[in-house]
Amino acid sequence: MSDHYQSLGVARGASADEIKKAYRKIARELHPDVNPDPAVQDKFKEVTAAYEVLSDPQKRQSYDMGGSGFGGGGFGGGGFSDIMDAFFGGGQNRGPRPRMRQGQDALIRVEVDLNEACFGTERDISVENAVACTKCKGQGSADSSAPSMCQVCKGRGETQQVQRSFLGQVMTSRPCGSCQGYGSVIQNPCRECAGDGRVRARQNISVKIPAGVETGNRIQLAGRGEVGSGGGPAGDLYVEIVESQHPYLIRDSHNLHVAIEVSFAAASLGTKVMVECLDGPIEVEVRAGTQSGATIPVRGKGMTRLRAGTRGDLIVHIEVQTPHKLSRDQEEMLRKFAEARGEKPGDVKIKGLEQGFFSKFRDAFGR
Ligand SMILES: [Zn+2]
Ligand SMILES: [Zn+2]
Repeated sequence: MSDHYQSLGVARGASADEIKKAYRKIARELHPDVNPDPAVQDKFKEVTAAYEVLSDPQKRQSYDMGGSGFGGGGFGGGGFSDIMDAFFGGGQNRGPRPRMRQGQDALIRVEVDLNEACFGTERDISVENAVACTKCKGQGSADSSAPSMCQVCKGRGETQQVQRSFLGQVMTSRPCGSCQGYGSVIQNPCRECAGDGRVRARQNISVKIPAGVETGNRIQLAGRGEVGSGGGPAGDLYVEIVESQHPYLIRDSHNLHVAIEVSFAAASLGTKVMVECLDGPIEVEVRAGTQSGATIPVRGKGMTRLRAGTRGDLIVHIEVQTPHKLSRDQEEMLRKFAEARGEKPGDVKIKGLEQGFFSKFRDAFGR
């Protein structure tokens, strides 16, 4: 999928005017009448598709938010050919366009917390969408009479004319203005939907979110998207997962990470600590002599693997706290402690290259 902004050669923050200018300029060079080469035609289609999205504030916003997989021509919107017409007064002969059209897919984002992402949940979401007009049952007519043939275009859906353009004289056809290209006219349009056969409405939908989802996962609800015009079938609704940050658990795919502070004495002597994870508090054993930076894996307490149902690990990172603000007594005890271990003030041990920080550093860079 190409980036629409890149296709048009504009910045992401480009104004509507800049986008229009960019499109006009490129389209003039690539237009089928000028350059019929198939490769150029593909480029032209790509640029036009980009313009179709970026020139419509609503579509542009949804594209910016990541709904790029979704076709153009939204609610009441035009399509590829309408844009061609806007700039070039029509292109190919297309005949009347059908009133009944497939509805658009819709996208909604749902935020879940880490617990819900791990164990799954059920959510009631409220979606504003195009639904079939109940007054005319999607047919668009107030008196349920069938559309009659357009008298202006005689049902062809387009009118033809000779135009002078920068290319010389061209015979062009454009959608009939009287029937908007449908070739037929609804004599008495439904007042509820103005003849479109659908209206905007808010719906409540219950969504089952499976265990193991993560940000970017999409759940497809077939037929719950926007209903089509003229009683056309509905598109699909996609529910995209956005996972909110847990206060202290960090997700890394199937594993979870947590950092705990252990006192210098406890790390030296060994201790058992309770760590609050997604399954509630669990006991973690910190062995005597644990160093700062050590990790303790707890099997099966990480995230659920989507579909597989098995779980990753919880990795507990140990930070040993060096005591500070010592009382006089404590200070005295520590001095005695050091003395008993034979430590002298100023003692420093240089670590060999195979140990410690440098070896980790080298491993990371594969040297
Ligand atoms: Zn209606
Ligand atoms: Zn017409």
